[in-house]
Amino acid sequence: MIGRKTFLRLSGVSLLAVAGRKVIAALAGSPSTAASTVTRWAMVVDPVKCAKAAEGCTKCIDACHAAHNVPALTERRHEVKWIWEEPFDRAFPSQQTSYTEAVFHGKPLVVLCNHCNNPPCVRVCPTKATWRREDGLVMMDWHRCIGCRYCMAACPYGSRSFNWVDPRPNIRNLNADFPTRTKGVVEKCTFCEERLAKGRPPACVEACPEKALIFGNLEDPQSEVRSLLRSRYTMRRKPELGTQPEVFYII
Ligand code: SF4
Repeated sequence: MIGRKTFLRLSGVSLLAVAGRKVIAALAGSPSTAASTVTRWAMVVDPVKCAKAAEGCTKCIDACHAAHNVPALTERRHEVKWIWEEPFDRAFPSQQTSYTEAVFHGKPLVVLCNHCNNPPCVRVCPTKATWRREDGLVMMDWHRCIGCRYCMAACPYGSRSFNWVDPRPNIRNLNADFPTRTKGVVEKCTFCEERLAKGRPPACVEACPEKALIFGNLEDPQSEVRSLLRSRYTMRRKPELGTQPEVFYII
């Protein structure tokens, strides 16, 4: 038998807990949070459209790195990258054939973290500094990263970078709205979770003048990503590894 005082105390705690959860949901206000059970974010890259951009276009990379305070380090061994270009033959080492369209051979392709459905990087992290959200985003908590680099060894796509030097003096234009990292920490693309939370597309998607990067919800049959996957032939990087990337390339 619970006394009146105990009941009031317990119900007060429960009400506070419920209110707390509602406040968190309202603050997040994100499509990902609101529809966590029905949302799975994915990207489709159209290399042909990308190739139509002006020679040397790096607008997607510039926008991403500026938004996320990615340091501009010129020494290759110190390089930090969230989105970058990789020759087609290196991005798809096991899938190219001599019949692959000439337009792709040796041409640079935009690559980034694939936000794998079955991410090996998450499995090996000893501090849970990286994890996969219900909406498919593979997240990072830089405060929890101890710099062991197991995730870098586990990622078969080279999608993670280690801060060998202090990144802060090497940030060109500091974005005060996004955290900076420190020496000894791993970082990577987060599919712009901070922008998704405000209902905005990733910075790279918004910056592309050719609309070569298409972002949307895989669980929504009406989304543009689903429509492209239905109508075009796409490939994912290194499918034989079973990581199930959520970044698709129209070939
Ligand atoms: Fe992890 Fe690499 Fe997959 Fe990104 S691409 S989720 S870092 S395994």
